[in-house]
Amino acid sequence: GGEPVRVLVTGAAGQIGYALAPMIARGLMLGPDQPVILHLLEIPPAATALEGVCMELTDAAFPLLQGVVATTDPAVACKDVDIACFIGGFPRKAGMERKDVMSKNVNIYKSIASGIEAHAKPTVKCVVVANPANTNAYILKKYAPKMDKKSITCLTRLDHNRMVGQIAERCKVPNAKVDGVIVWGNHSSTQYPDVNHGTVGSKTIREAINDDAYLNGEFMTTVQKRGAAIIAARKLSSALSAASSVCDHVRNWVVGMEGRKYVSMGVVSDGSYGITEGLVYSFPCVCKGGEWSIVQGLEIDPRSKDLMEATHKELLEEKDLALSCLEE
Ligand code: NDP
Repeated sequence: GGEPVRVLVTGAAGQIGYALAPMIARGLMLGPDQPVILHLLEIPPAATALEGVCMELTDAAFPLLQGVVATTDPAVACKDVDIACFIGGFPRKAGMERKDVMSKNVNIYKSIASGIEAHAKPTVKCVVVANPANTNAYILKKYAPKMDKKSITCLTRLDHNRMVGQIAERCKVPNAKVDGVIVWGNHSSTQYPDVNHGTVGSKTIREAINDDAYLNGEFMTTVQKRGAAIIAARKLSSALSAASSVCDHVRNWVVGMEGRKYVSMGVVSDGSYGITEGLVYSFPCVCKGGEWSIVQGLEIDPRSKDLMEATHKELLEEKDLALSCLEE
């Protein structure tokens, strides 16, 4: 029971938004007893599609759903929200240069920054999903300077969950037996899926799998290229797993860790592990009382250090490219 929590979803009529809205309304993000009000933002060309989503939300008659604010006005969408899931963005189409997509998307995040800063609750918690997710989050932070840096994150939980899924499948154990995996860096193919601190039941992952060639090779590329494999199979990008991971990210941040050792989150670096302060980089985090903190003091072997540095370097370059794309 209690007061409803207001959750913003941008790009709400898109694939991920369509999968995410019912999950939130069913309590998968904030718990089975927490009423919610959905704030759904779309761009004008998708306004009619959004009306259709609203009709379906009405028809599903979710007990926890206490209202829907569907709009194409960012100020209305951001008004008093407690949680903001930024999914809206241009997809990369065939023939588009990386810089073209980058330019479109970082400018979207520059313009939404002032809306969220001005209209959301001061305690709002944000997660950016739209690509380039880390860099969009960086831009959001830069243009919402009054917001707490710790309130802006990006999604790498899907990559984290992909690691868990692969290891559980390989070991033939339930997913819940796998813990302590880490995604370092960018939500891109340079991410470093690190199993060195993870466990399967009472064993380390390396003991349980007992195949370092697999863990350092095929396992990593499977996780890094999973998005492309899903597009090849489905002819559409991942949506249900992305939406489910957004719920996991927010729930573990806001509600609690549910016994997990750590979760991967793209957060604003404080310089931990030598990562440039201010950059949005995925780290192992623990959350308590609605606050994340970066797990400190993990031992990093030389191979890991190189991999963490490569994705760090990509993010520094991405940031510079993004800054050069910003419009006045
Ligand atoms: P999706 O809902 O499939 O994806 C939305 C965003 O999430 C994309 O940027 C996508 O990046 C990104 N993403 C991040 N991680 C993943 C992942 N693991 N799997 C899949 N996607 C991931 O896109 P749709 O095109 O269906 O929907 C986007 C919505 O946004 C549309 O409804 C559109 O109207 C709206 N929109 C809003 C804009 C705005 O706010 N100004 C501008 C343009 C569109 P990638 O493309 O790299 O997969």
